[in-house]
Amino acid sequence: MGQDRSAQRELMVAQDLRGRGIRDDRVLDAMSVIPRHQFVLPEDRDNAYIDAPLPIPDDQTISQPYIVALMSEALRLKGGERVLEIGTGSGYQTAVLAELQAQIWTMESSTILARQSKRRLERLGYDSIHFIQSDGTLGLPSQAPFDRILATGSLPEVPIELLHQLAEGGVFVGPVGDWDGQQLVRIVYHTNQFEREVLCHCRFVPLIGAQGWPY
Ligand code: SAH
Repeated sequence: MGQDRSAQRELMVAQDLRGRGIRDDRVLDAMSVIPRHQFVLPEDRDNAYIDAPLPIPDDQTISQPYIVALMSEALRLKGGERVLEIGTGSGYQTAVLAELQAQIWTMESSTILARQSKRRLERLGYDSIHFIQSDGTLGLPSQAPFDRILATGSLPEVPIELLHQLAEGGVFVGPVGDWDGQQLVRIVYHTNQFEREVLCHCRFVPLIGAQGWPY
């Protein structure tokens, strides 16, 4: 079975990630070792390496592998960066960030998901991640500034509170736009300027919160 899973993972990396243009070897390497089947519902384990989002508890979803790879690559991580992730969900993207040697603060508003993903990541040996169960749309001022901020759910606008928590040279990546369709944007903060670039169209579940979508 273990053999099967790693063969499925290799195929996903070759076909759906490298094959669709992901070039960052560290991201590809990370995704060829993380057991995505342990982040999905038991009944979906056999579908874990198909390039699709899947349901997780609390009406949320684990993002599609290609999108996780694209966002991870867009963050341009070299190792050691302070990263704020908003929307822990299953914890799969968090594991990718951990494999990329980031220092991670991850925020999740759902009590169930926050608890489950913490337990799951600790069991898998990721033992230096900081878990915060609360609304992440306001960021985490007590730990700012961050070198990277990643939103893994959609936002109507990029909250200014988040941009103000970026360090010089810092990067924000996340889906911004309408409830039913967004653009994945990258914003780089340099010498008091925010440079914004659109990476692709996408569709994410919403971040519900003070600076996200209304409750
Ligand atoms: N990266 C995750 C994707 C999670 S989907 C994965 O691949 O599993 C987005 C997550 O954001 C959901 O788990 C949802 O519960 C959470 N969320 C929604 N609003 C939030 C908020 N205001 N603050 C923190 N997390 C939020």
